[in-house]
This record gives sequence, structure tokens and C-alpha cells, in this order.
Amino acid sequence: MNDQSTEESRSHRPARHSESWILNSEFSTRHLISPERREKARELARLSRRLSLLETAAEGILLLLFLFSGLAAGLRDLLPGAFLLRVGVFTLITGAAYEVIFSPLSYYQGYVLPRRYGLSVQGFRGWLADHLKGWALGLFLGLVAGLAIYWLLAAYPATWWLWASLFLVLLSILLTHLAPVLILPLFLKLQPLTDPELGRRLNELARRAGVRIKGVFVADLSARSTTSNAGLMGIGATRRIVVSDTLIAQYTPDEIEAVLAHELGHHAHRDIPRLILVQAGLLLVSFYLAHLALRRFSLPLGLEGPADIAGFPLLMLVLGGLFLVASPLVKGFSRRIESAADSYALGLARLPQAFLTALAKLTDQNLAEARPPRWEEWLFYDHPPFYRRKANVERYMASSQ
Ligand SMILES: [Zn+2]
Repeated sequence: MNDQSTEESRSHRPARHSESWILNSEFSTRHLISPERREKARELARLSRRLSLLETAAEGILLLLFLFSGLAAGLRDLLPGAFLLRVGVFTLITGAAYEVIFSPLSYYQGYVLPRRYGLSVQGFRGWLADHLKGWALGLFLGLVAGLAIYWLLAAYPATWWLWASLFLVLLSILLTHLAPVLILPLFLKLQPLTDPELGRRLNELARRAGVRIKGVFVADLSARSTTSNAGLMGIGATRRIVVSDTLIAQYTPDEIEAVLAHELGHHAHRDIPRLILVQAGLLLVSFYLAHLALRRFSLPLGLEGPADIAGFPLLMLVLGGLFLVASPLVKGFSRRIESAADSYALGLARLPQAFLTALAKLTDQNLAEARPPRWEEWLFYDHPPFYRRKANVERYMASSQ
């Protein structure tokens, strides 16, 4: 912040920072998020959390039952054919059973709740089509991963965990690459930003940031949802910023510029590659521990060996358990890079007031909890909650007087 005076003199805008601005922002954000919306957000957060807790517990119990009841071994014996064919059919049957068992929960969580809280405007058929597309995509990726992991387990019993994590990292890089061009368009229509004034401001912002952007795309979220969103997507040649049409329609140009500055911050900090690196580390450790668990417990559990597909629930229990344990660390890392992108955005766009109202509007509109309990923040939040981001903006305003 020590070069603030030179930055201000370079800027053709009037000085934006003064004591009264801070007082104004206190006033406006307090009133932007109405007490009634805060209460609704708290209620929704509590409900969603209970549901996801229930889901996690049910997944664990079902996997234990699948493993210990002999059902997994029975299914394996039913399936004839070559090793990989058996693995493929086993994975597909398990994935389909999972979908059927959890369909009431998916319906309630994905359709009933968002409509009840006014977050979704999508009809049942539209929701079902999206849900089935998501499920088919997940099943296909699960099949690819399952085949690769079990083939590696059989072919390289000592080092499979290394190759399996490498394979999944490469798959994740490929998916990140394809996400904005192949996967997101399955659900939303994407169009280049057409507003010339906004485009000009954004290009100017990117130029000042020294970041090469491959375009800003607008997604037709309004056909499904009342929420707003913006994000960085893709990697390499597909790297771009995606914003929802709801954001473009309902936010002032200053607010949009401030939000886009945050996304440019992710670009400048190379946050997607950094997140992939964190994932890679997590995968490597998890697969190594899964390797030890399979070697130790396969025979005592009556399996034919670590590569026995009937041990699939054991593999899922170990991997799922480790991801669950590591989740607060990954979320903590994510909150840190989000906070760094906020600071970057403030320094780049120098629109603290607009950034603050944009954050308040997003919190209000998306029914996010403005100030969740500390432990919830630690366990579940991949973005800092509103009160922390607001404090960050206010610190910036105070330090750049
Ligand atoms: Zn972000």
C-alpha cells in the first residue's frame, strides 16, 4: 500500500477513500442484507448441512454393509468374463445403485429446497434433465477411473498407487481444460460478453493487471436460477472468465468491474494450477494409504487380493475417509487464495465501495450466511464468509486514506 499516492496520481478517477465512505459502507451493507434474508440463509445453511451430514453417514454405512455382508463378493461371483469387463460392470452396477438409493435425497436437496427458498426457477423436467446429465457424466468418469485403477492394481501391484494418482491428476487437468468448452455447455449456454462499454473496461483492467485473458463469457443462469456467480474456468487455451447473466443484469458496471478484478486476481496468482497441485499431493498420499490398507486387509476380509473388485467398497471407504479428513485443509487453502484474490482486486480496480456492495448483494441474493459460526467456516467454507471479506475491504479503505 505504500505506493498508493503514485497509484492515485496515475489514476484519472477522483480519490475514493475517505472516512465517510467507510461509514456509508457500514450503513449500506447492513441494509443490503435484510434481517429476514439473514434468517432465511441461516435456516437453509442448517438444513443443507444436516442433509450432507446424513448423506456422508449413509454412504459410509452402505459401503460397510456392501463390504461386510458379502454382497460385494456375491456380485463379483455373479459377473462372468474377463477381469476388466467384470470391473466395468461392477462399477456401473454400483454407480446405478447409488443413484437409485440416493435419488430421494438428490430430489429434495437439488429441486425442493432451492425452489422453496426462491433460489431456483427451474421446472421439474428441466431439473431432472440436468440431474441425469450430471449423473451420466459422473458414471462415465467413475467408469474410466475404476477401469484405470484396477488395471494398474493388477498390472503393477507395488507401484499402482503412484500411477493411479498420476492418471487422476492428468484426468483432472484434461477435465479442467474441457470444462468451459465441453462440460459447462451441457448445462448452460455460454456467449461472449457483448456489452462494448463493459468489454472496454474489462480489457483496460486486464491490461493494467498484465494478464492475458481469452475472453469473458456470459452464462444464461437466469433460465434456471435467481442467483449470481462469476468464476475463472479452464486452463491453457480454454482459460476464461465466466459470469452469469444475472450478474450482468443486476449489478452496476463498477460492481461488475470489481468482481472481474477478483477473477483476474485468480489469473494473476495462477490459482487453478496451484489448486491442481494441492489435489495432486492429496491424491498421492490417499492412494498410498489405500495401497497399505488393501495390502493389509484384503486377505483377512476374504478377498482374493488387493486387485479383487469385491474390495471396491474398502478402497472407497479409505479414499473417501481420507478426503473427508483432508477437506478442512483444502478448504482452508481455498479460503486463503480467495482472500488473496480479494486483496488483488482492491488494489487493481480501486473500487472498494463497489466491491463491498457487490459482495453484500451476492451474499443476499445467493442466500449465503453472512456470519456463520467459526467451526462451520473452518469445516465447510471454500470462500471466506461475507463478514471477513468486508473486514478485508475496510482494512484496505482505512490503509489507503
Ligand atoms: Zn474467487
